[in-house]
Parts: sequence; structure tokens; C-alpha cells
Amino acid sequence: MSSPDIAILGGGESGVGAAILAKKKGLDVFLSDKGTINEKYKNVLKNYGIKWEENRHSEKLILSAGEIIKSPGIPDTVELVKKAWQMKIPVISEIEFAGRYTDAFKICITGSNGKTTTTLLTGHILKNAGHNVGIAGNVGRSFAWMVAEEDHDYYVLEISSFQLDGMFDFKADVAVLLNITPDHLDRYDNRFENYVLSKFRILQNQTADDHFVFFQDDPVIIQQMEKINIKSRLYPFTGKTQPHEGAYLKNEKTLVININAQPIEMEIKDLSLTGTHNVYNSLASGISARLVDIRKEVIKQSLADFENIEHRLEHVSMVKGIEFINDSKATNINSAWYALESMNKPVIWIMGGMDKGNDYSQLAELARTKVKAIVCLGRDNKRIFEAFGKIVPDIIETSSAEDAVKSAYFLGEKGDVVLLSPACASFDLFENFEDRGKQFKKAVYDL
Ligand code: ADP
Repeated sequence: MSSPDIAILGGGESGVGAAILAKKKGLDVFLSDKGTINEKYKNVLKNYGIKWEENRHSEKLILSAGEIIKSPGIPDTVELVKKAWQMKIPVISEIEFAGRYTDAFKICITGSNGKTTTTLLTGHILKNAGHNVGIAGNVGRSFAWMVAEEDHDYYVLEISSFQLDGMFDFKADVAVLLNITPDHLDRYDNRFENYVLSKFRILQNQTADDHFVFFQDDPVIIQQMEKINIKSRLYPFTGKTQPHEGAYLKNEKTLVININAQPIEMEIKDLSLTGTHNVYNSLASGISARLVDIRKEVIKQSLADFENIEHRLEHVSMVKGIEFINDSKATNINSAWYALESMNKPVIWIMGGMDKGNDYSQLAELARTKVKAIVCLGRDNKRIFEAFGKIVPDIIETSSAEDAVKSAYFLGEKGDVVLLSPACASFDLFENFEDRGKQFKKAVYDL
């Protein structure tokens, strides 16, 4: 085979999307996956006449490419990737690649938590305003796939730190940084500062005409902003002050989005999404929507009628007066913190799973005041007992969603809430967080 223009590592949503785009642009492309490629993606590759392989990497061929597009799931420490860098072959992400082929206006959303929610919410507002918008990135279809097959004036993109690591010339027109709390540190040499730098790549290449929307109450974000020179226009959102240009809370009851001295006010109780974290997500979405001149009424209506997304503080059912909530997507401490914080009934907390080096002490106070029992749903629960053994009266262990739900139901009484918000990854007992959430919901419906 001749040397390809582009070699793609990883045959998932982003890799296949990039392959289609490359092919459509007349580039010679070769896709390689070390594992097995999903049947539906194989069919797409065949239909497009794209060269591919699975269960191996043909190293020589890949390293003869002009450029490599790497799936965000593959760490930079993999030998093949290290070799590519040594040979000065650029290794980029699919977002970087797709960005070359569209002039659309891009709202790009990153952060440790809230990306999917804020991306979908912002996209919802733009759609309601009648804009031709594509919602892509880490959620739903890949950006490259959309650029290859559709034509949008606006994109709202969810961008993870792994994608940002492979972005160099890409520029966001609106960059949104929701928060930075420890996560995925295994991919950053266990150095939080490396992860912070990765998140700040969302700002790269921005000029004084571009916009940076950020959470002003996050000390990590503020400290980093003090260290660097930012050219972009700044739009903070905050629960603590009332910035001139930005978004904030008034009297703890009203949300204010104030851009170009045309404030929008809305009662928090009218937001469709519940929980303090979602107030912040709504502020960030509201600013982004104002920056593309969407009318007040459309923004208010959209923030009020947005439908909650599965596995994020999702109300499942009431059984004999006990409410069940599925927050399976809470895979780290910060997201579980917001879930517990938003509960206003006694909580039976289903948590645990694969611990990424969690500091549970941050949850101790909320556990003390709100949690009456913990149901562990994971293989190894030692650290949970250490952290909460003296704080929470009842802690029991289970190893299936069904057992966890039955135990929680047994422990609960009318007026309680059973909250699945694990603070951990799911891979010890489940395929992924969706599988965990779905099994949880099925067990609730089966009660
Ligand atoms: P991401 O795409 O960044 O993982 P999601 O919107 O899928 O974020 O939400 C992930 C988890 O974090 C959910 O449990 C959700 O309830 C919680 N969450 C959402 N927004 C925030 C936020 N701004 N701060 C903290 N936690 C949040």
C-alpha cells in the first residue's frame, strides 16, 4: 500500500467520522484499530471505500502517513504515538482536523463536569431560535462526521481534555470553561497542573474578537487566568458577584444574564433543570446564546422547556413514596457533590465502583447532614467504609444494580430519596455508565 496522507488510530465515532471527511476531501486515508471495530462502523467504512484494519496496527504503514488522527481514548504514552512524535509526524485530534473544513461559528464547551448538559442546552436554545446548528463532539455524532455530511452555520461542540490535547490551530469563537476539578489524572502523569493546562487549550488562538465564558467561582480557573495573557473578551458567570458583563444570581432566586447592557432575568424555579450545578450550566448557556444575539424570550423559554438528559439527576420513579433518581453519569467527586447538595429529602445513597483515587473527605459534610444509608455498588468498598464508616449509620455492600435497588428500597421509607450518584467509574461491574444507569432503572421499574 502506498503511504497514506492520513492515518487514523481508532475506529469509533470520531475515527470513522474523520475517515469519511478525509475521503470526501480527496485524501488518501487508512484507518487502524487495535481492537475490533463495531459492525455498524465497518459497514460505513466499506460503503465509503475507506481502507481499514482491525485487531492490529500496521506500524510501518501508519508511520509513513503525512499526518495521524488519534482517537481521544488512546493515550500519548502508547509506543506507536511516541514513535510518530519522534518522527515528527503530527498527531492531531478529529476536532482539529474537522475544524479545517468549516467556517461555521463554533461554541466550544469544556470542563470537568457539565459538558454534555451545557452543550445540549445551548444547542437547544440555538435550535429554538431557528438557527441551523449542529450539536456534536464528545456527545452524539462526531464533529468530523457532521462536517462531512451536513452543512451548518453554527456548531455547539462538547470537547474533552483528551480532544483538546490534539488541538493546535483550531479556534473556538465562543470558548466555555465550566469548572476544573481533578479527573482523569492517570492520563496527565498524576499532575493536576497538566490537566489544568489541557483544559485551557480551549482558549488557544482566540483573539480580541473572540469570547471566553468561564466560571468565576472556580479558584483553579481564576488562578490559571492570573498566570496567562488572555486576549479574548471575558464573560464570567458566578453565584458570588454581579459582573457588569456576564451572568449571575440575584437574591439566590433570580438568574441574570447581562450582555451588552440588555439583562435577561429569570426565576431559578422556572429552569427546567434542577440542582445548583444546573443553574451554572444555564448561566453559561444563556451567555453563549446572547453572544449570538438570540432573543430574550427564546432564551427564557428554552431554559424552561429543555428536557433532562438520561443519567444526569434523572427522576426515575416514585415507589411507595420513595423517589428514585439516576445520576449514573456522576463518575467523580465533584458531580456527586452537586447531586447530594441538591437533595432536600433524607438520602439513601447508592455509590461506589471503580475509584480513580477519590478524596471522599470532600463529601463528608454532605454525607453527615443528608445521607441516612449508603449502599455500595462496586467490587472494592474498603475506602468507602474508611471515609464514611463513622459518619453514616448504615453502610451495606452489593454487587449488582438489582441488589442495590432492592436493598435501598428495603432501607427506605416514605419521603426518602434513593440516589444513584456513584462518584466512581462503572467498569468494575458494568460496561459503562449508561449500562449502570439502565440496569438501575430496570431494577426500579421491577420493584
Ligand atoms: P460531562 O459531559 O462533563 O461529563 P454531564 O453534563 O454529562 O457532564 O454531567 C456529568 C455529571 O456531573 C452528572 O452527574 C451531572 O449531574 C453533574 N454535573 C452537571 N453539571 C455540573 C457542573 N456544572 N458542576 C458539577 N457537576 C455537574
